[in-house]
Amino acid sequence: MEAVVLEKKGLIRIRDIDIRENMGPDDVRIAVRAVGVCGSDVHYYTHGGVGPYVVREPMVLGHEASGIVLEVGKHVDTLRPGDPVCMEPGIPDMKSRAARLGLYNLDPSLTFWATPPIHGCLRESVVHPASFTYRLPPSVSLGEGALVEPFAVGLQAAKKAGITPGDTAVVTGAGTIGLMTCLAALGGGCSRIIISDRLQPKLDLAATLGPIVGVNIQKQDLKEIVAEYTDGWGADIVFEASGNGEAIQGTFDLLRPGGCVVLVGSPLEQVQLPIVTAQAKEARIETVFRYANVYDRALSLMESGAVNVKPFITKTYPFNRSVEASEYAAENHPETVKIQIIRE
Ligand SMILES: [Zn+2]
Repeated sequence: MEAVVLEKKGLIRIRDIDIRENMGPDDVRIAVRAVGVCGSDVHYYTHGGVGPYVVREPMVLGHEASGIVLEVGKHVDTLRPGDPVCMEPGIPDMKSRAARLGLYNLDPSLTFWATPPIHGCLRESVVHPASFTYRLPPSVSLGEGALVEPFAVGLQAAKKAGITPGDTAVVTGAGTIGLMTCLAALGGGCSRIIISDRLQPKLDLAATLGPIVGVNIQKQDLKEIVAEYTDGWGADIVFEASGNGEAIQGTFDLLRPGGCVVLVGSPLEQVQLPIVTAQAKEARIETVFRYANVYDRALSLMESGAVNVKPFITKTYPFNRSVEASEYAAENHPETVKIQIIRE
């Protein structure tokens, strides 16, 4: 089938690839329709790897996907051909110890689309377990459906924070995940978000999404602004979504005593944490690895209108221009949040 293949670092080609997928009784076959270009896809393209995951053989890119059900296995009674759906890209072994604990995202044997050596979903069709395939409500478009994946990361962060209604949160980093975390935190009951970044267009966009205050750290002091909004007490929650070492180290300075820091961004290098500063506030520290059990919640929030992810779709490309889309994404335009590839 036709697919977008990362042949090796720096080389993407649209070509035929032989992928044989057996339809099991609990699976569905889905025609892929919208796929978001993720930072990880771009990193595999520009660097040939992300941390321990190195591209050694040609790999189909893409993991943020929606599509239309083509065919269902004989045990599947929750979905029908023609249903618009989005797919959770990580498939755990549901008999694993992690899955039995409700932590299926942490199953060491989990396979995840476009994480070497597993092929991604930028191709004609995929076979996927029905239990990790979610029907889109009529009001949620295929483009929005493909945004459920990055939104799920924000929801996982909101869940781990244990938000109390009326909390004030800080989000450091206004990339896709930072912006998604803002929406998830508002959906989860935060009354105000203060978001920081260096790129003004991202902050300007954030400010249109709700009670969100943008702080440009090139010209403003984040700590001072957080103090202003919280009467010097500090934020209830700090979501660290930049992965930047300095930002990570500064999180505890923004936090109120007894507050929670959620580490969402992944730093590329080792970062030292100021443990004593954290201890002096009895800070709770949470971490996030992808997500579990949030896709249905993401769709509920979108359907009800509590959350609107549409402003994040900056640009779409047809499938036959996928190489161009990847190149554009790699250029890191400050006004770009999400590029999507559409298969008609
Ligand atoms: Zn992604």
